[in-house]
Amino acid sequence: MPLLLQNVVLDDREPAAIAAEALGLPVGRVAAAEIVRRGVDARARVALWRGNLRVELDQGEAAVLRQRLPGVREWTERDQVRRTGFLPANRRSWPTRPIVVGAGPAGLFAALRLMEAGAPVLLLERGDPVERRVGVVNGFWRGGALDAESNLLFGEGGAGTFSDGKVYTRRRDGDLGWIFRHLVDAGADPSVLEESWAHLGTDKIRAILPVLRQKLIDGGGEVRFRARMTDLLVRDGRCVGVRLASGEEVAGGPVIVAAGHSARDTIDAMLRAGAAAEVRPVAIGARVEHPQAIIDTGLYPKGRGELPPASYRLAHNPPGGRSAYTFCMCPGGMVVPAQNEPGTNVVNGMSFAARRAVWANSAVIVQVGPADYGADDPRAGQRFQDQIERAAFRATGSFAAPAQRVDDFLADRLSADLPRSSYPFGIQSVDLRAVLPPSIIEGMKGALLAFDQKIPGFASAAGVLIAPETRTTSPLRFLRSPSFESTTLPGLIPSGEGAGWGGGIVSAAHDGFCVAEKVIG
Ligand SMILES: Cc1cc2nc3c(=O)[nH]c(=O)nc-3n(C[C@H](O)[C@H](O)[C@H](O)COP(=O)(O)OP(=O)(O)OC[C@H]3O[C@@H](n4cnc5c(N)ncnc54)[C@H](O)[C@@H]3O)c2cc1C
Repeated sequence: MPLLLQNVVLDDREPAAIAAEALGLPVGRVAAAEIVRRGVDARARVALWRGNLRVELDQGEAAVLRQRLPGVREWTERDQVRRTGFLPANRRSWPTRPIVVGAGPAGLFAALRLMEAGAPVLLLERGDPVERRVGVVNGFWRGGALDAESNLLFGEGGAGTFSDGKVYTRRRDGDLGWIFRHLVDAGADPSVLEESWAHLGTDKIRAILPVLRQKLIDGGGEVRFRARMTDLLVRDGRCVGVRLASGEEVAGGPVIVAAGHSARDTIDAMLRAGAAAEVRPVAIGARVEHPQAIIDTGLYPKGRGELPPASYRLAHNPPGGRSAYTFCMCPGGMVVPAQNEPGTNVVNGMSFAARRAVWANSAVIVQVGPADYGADDPRAGQRFQDQIERAAFRATGSFAAPAQRVDDFLADRLSADLPRSSYPFGIQSVDLRAVLPPSIIEGMKGALLAFDQKIPGFASAAGVLIAPETRTTSPLRFLRSPSFESTTLPGLIPSGEGAGWGGGIVSAAHDGFCVAEKVIG
């Protein structure tokens, strides 16, 4: 019976030596030890690595467990699945063809799991395959037209393709290992199985996606690009297929719609067809960009040495005030334009695997909800986001993003000049009060001052706010029954972030896995 040792300091010694010391045993008693999770502990006086070890002793595990040493427990079957990713699917026959709409993490992993169960799954994607999509996005950044179907949000891999590729989540379920195993088999560095704060980088994701696509096709699935679903086909109160923009009708089911939070036309089609949804709170603000050196100095006061570029996750919860927090921090990354419609400005963050850029960025966002939206129908949050995104475009009259130095923002002062930024379209000095509502401005101010206490220089002139960050998650949620079908439209399964059932690459992929398991079962 192997043991799990949690939260031990990892130094240059062999894992067996570290395990022996933690358990108070001679090294000779440790038959095998391996690191199964590790991450930088920047809270320590000198930043160091901490992690979990899987340990086998020559004998006497039960006696060790009886001692109830802190952080020591039995290695379970769930731990094993998490580690190996080995999770065979229940193969069965398929009277109808499952249809998955959207090749983002939720749709892609739902389709892969259905394929493993022998389903002749059809995956429909409105945008381009990733190889072509990269060219389309780069063309837009070089001044070309915005392609409403294939862009930073739409196309193979979904919103996660041009991202930092952080692949961690607060969940630690055993079947997350299945997702990681697919990523590693498709070319991800095996270290993602261990790193607590694992990230792939946009370049790695772009290489992994064609491998996953081919796996799906080889297993009997079909993938169609530039195939936008415009309507759900409903017969006798049941969803029985989809209509495409070409007019073609495709019968099949169940229909899993994993369209992401920005496909507002697709969300409208689901509502029109009768799927019930409710409005949700979201968080909105701006991206803050600093030189990475400021973050490194703040978090690694003794020097960075061989450690990765410093990363942070900060929160501010003033009593009686609005919570604000940093989100999607990208060390060594760049701020990117993330709109899918003309006449709007939206920003987000991305990085390459090496995280070598000289900047660090994160979203500083404030919680908003129906009281701010001024309505509580399912589309109210989308309208609120849209107003801000259009105000941001009007403020500069172009895809250049409105921006303000942090110290000027705190003093309600237009920035006389702006620092160099990673933003592809450039940034333009704007008083951000013209873009963001007062409640968000006030929430951000309190948070920036609090974050400056944790990372000196965070609220200084060296930081620049680039606005707006509106698409942090879905402002509505489709209601699902225990079978994961829509409560009001059986045959339809809303999945992933756009449906309000996931937030982030791994959590959306996990929702795709879970809905597929339900369908298979
Ligand atoms: C720039 C950026 C950086 C990010 N960085 C990270 C990160 O580092 N880590 C992290 O965990 N998360 C990150 N995220 C968030 C993450 O990408 C999303 O949470 C995740 O992609 C959601 O997955 P999804 O499958 O639910 O939806 P999406 O990824 O949005 O995928 C939806 C797919 O559906 C397609 N689609 C939409 N409508 C239709 C239709 N009608 N017909 C056919 N296809 C359709 C779209 O083209 C798209 O490909 C980032 C997001 C962005 C934009």
